[in-house]
Amino acid sequence: MLFARPRRPLLLAPALALPVLLAGCGATASGTSGDDGTVQVLASFYPLQMVAQEVGGDRVQVESLTPPGAEPHDVELSPAQVAHVADADLVVYLSGFQAAVDDAVAQTEPSDVLDAADVTTLISGEGDEHDHADDEHAEDEHAEEEHDHGSLDPHFWLDPSRMPAVADAVAEHLTALDPDGADEFAANAAALSERFTALDEAYRTGLAECGIRTFVTSHTAFGYLADRYDLEEVGISGIDPEAEPSPARLAEVSDVVRDEGVTTIFFETLVSPKVAETLAADLGVGTAVLDPIEGVTDDADYFSIAEANLDALRVALSCS
Ligand SMILES: [Zn+2]
Repeated sequence: MLFARPRRPLLLAPALALPVLLAGCGATASGTSGDDGTVQVLASFYPLQMVAQEVGGDRVQVESLTPPGAEPHDVELSPAQVAHVADADLVVYLSGFQAAVDDAVAQTEPSDVLDAADVTTLISGEGDEHDHADDEHAEDEHAEEEHDHGSLDPHFWLDPSRMPAVADAVAEHLTALDPDGADEFAANAAALSERFTALDEAYRTGLAECGIRTFVTSHTAFGYLADRYDLEEVGISGIDPEAEPSPARLAEVSDVVRDEGVTTIFFETLVSPKVAETLAADLGVGTAVLDPIEGVTDDADYFSIAEANLDALRVALSCS
């Protein structure tokens, strides 16, 4: 047998296991461990995958735990994916966002982990998703519910000004794993950060002068964007896109739409638009797509989607 003394449960097929074991030994000497000398990076969902790929370039192989086009909040991992978490040279994830990934990281203790929550300050999910909006919660803020960070809003990637810190952190981790790539990682991170900064500037100028500053979304994913550009997001379903809004919540949102002169109710691509469409029809307003960039389909990428989001917001908010 190849595995005389396995040091952790090996769930891989034998054909795959040998290179992985050899790579583990080689990692000390060369600092890299793919079959072809690349660093194996596992990202938990699209925006982190994109950053890892852009910063790592040809020196990394990046995979995502969330399939393309899938909604990442409720991702479930197969045993093979959990094994993959254990074997990756670097796992890039966001704690508190995907419970299955949090569990896999805790169980397998990968050799190197970058938690994006350590490089940006997450903000509170606010009151939008509370079931009892009229009730001041007396319970402990840190009461354990489904997720450890259930009260924090995960969607920080929708504020592009927060992304250079992630690029820099990825470059730092990759440099430790592959010191020969240091200059390349630093240059790639700098180039990517420039694109985020340019996007931030486009948002800032594009959303400076608008007829209204309130926008309504089906899934409350745009709190960071709203904070950054001085807008007000009113979410129908809360932070979790699958949560059903209560009749009371729908009534509140309807009042906002009427009072603020909201023209558009936004829905997104990865989740059913039914609630948004029904509400918009009831109120006689339009619908449009605002994409939380949680997954990509077709040829879209983070930047093209962010630019389309900006265009959609400018139309809905009557920005000049
Ligand atoms: Zn989301």
